[in-house]
Amino acid sequence: MYQRFDAAILGGGPAGLAATAYLLYARWQVALVSPDLGGKVSYPFALRDLPARDTVWGAGLVHELAEIVSGGLRHHIQETASRVERAEDGSFQISLSDDNTIAARTVILCTGARPQRLFVAGETEFWGRGLSFSAVSHAPLFVDRDVAVIGGGDRSIAAVRILIPLARRIYYIAARPQHLSDPDEADRVLNHAKVTVFRGWEVQQIIGDDFVTGLDLVGINGEVRRLPVEGVFVQYGLLPNNGLIRDLVKLDANGHVIVDAHCAASVAGIFAAGDVTNIYAEQVPVSIGEGAKAGLSAWDYLSAQLHT
Ligand SMILES: Cc1cc2nc3c(=O)[nH]c(=O)nc-3n(C[C@H](O)[C@H](O)[C@H](O)COP(=O)(O)OP(=O)(O)OC[C@H]3O[C@@H](n4cnc5c(N)ncnc54)[C@H](O)[C@@H]3O)c2cc1C
Repeated sequence: MYQRFDAAILGGGPAGLAATAYLLYARWQVALVSPDLGGKVSYPFALRDLPARDTVWGAGLVHELAEIVSGGLRHHIQETASRVERAEDGSFQISLSDDNTIAARTVILCTGARPQRLFVAGETEFWGRGLSFSAVSHAPLFVDRDVAVIGGGDRSIAAVRILIPLARRIYYIAARPQHLSDPDEADRVLNHAKVTVFRGWEVQQIIGDDFVTGLDLVGINGEVRRLPVEGVFVQYGLLPNNGLIRDLVKLDANGHVIVDAHCAASVAGIFAAGDVTNIYAEQVPVSIGEGAKAGLSAWDYLSAQLHT
């Protein structure tokens, strides 16, 4: 017999904590399945002549939510969820990494996303010391500095667009063509006087001392070029952690769970919030807000079931 809950929240980052806090407040029987409480909230970032700073707004609220949740939560299951299945009665069975299964009347998916990496020398070493996976988080630190943007798709074009008014010079590196939703707009952005485009060049390594000082490119004919930059933005995009629910709900072309304005996914009783969804802007304050919405929607869903 499975342990049964009113709600199972999968993922304990900013979105999952906000959702859990609301459902605990409403006194439902809640299970939070997550190896950690807090998710991705600490990103110290430093540049030469710029002291290290954490650019995350809302981290304090995430810690506060973690305290509220750990104070009231009786079922923090410190495992990962591997699969969600819908039962005939409309409830859900959630398989866990310890081979146990739990059941819940509603599920809130808050498993986040991870950045697509380059896998070249220097990438791990200089992460947070000039190398960034999030232009929206770090572009304003690069005023009058030279930077490189690596990508090829919409996310890299958006990064160049927000860097143009800030940075001094922008090198745009696209190893191979990727889908662009608006190729004319991409051309307009890349034709800006501050931008130099390297198409068909691969990044070989990121170099530096205490901070990034440049990157080496290699062309199709083997030619090597060294670009002197203080910033490297890897902008291939984020990979949503959707494996456990991929076959159950509708996803967009990039694998994000499609949610409506109430954070409801395409299957009744499943809600989702934060970076795993198709909501605009991966930022901690946005995820807290989305998690709160998902928690409120699940509360309403559970309450409505009492009258059916
Ligand atoms: C490199 C980088 C830099 C960033 N910098 C900033 C910044 O400066 N400012 C800012 O506001 N935002 C920044 N962000 C974005 C911010 O981290 C996210 O928007 C936010 O953390 C998303 O919250 P979330 O709850 O959706 O997911 P996450 O914070 O990713 O939390 C996901 C949670 O789900 C858990 N989990 C994952 N898989 C499973 C599973 N199968 N079962 C159970 N649990 C699971 C994880 O352990 C974690 O607890 C950055 C993101 C990246 C990648």
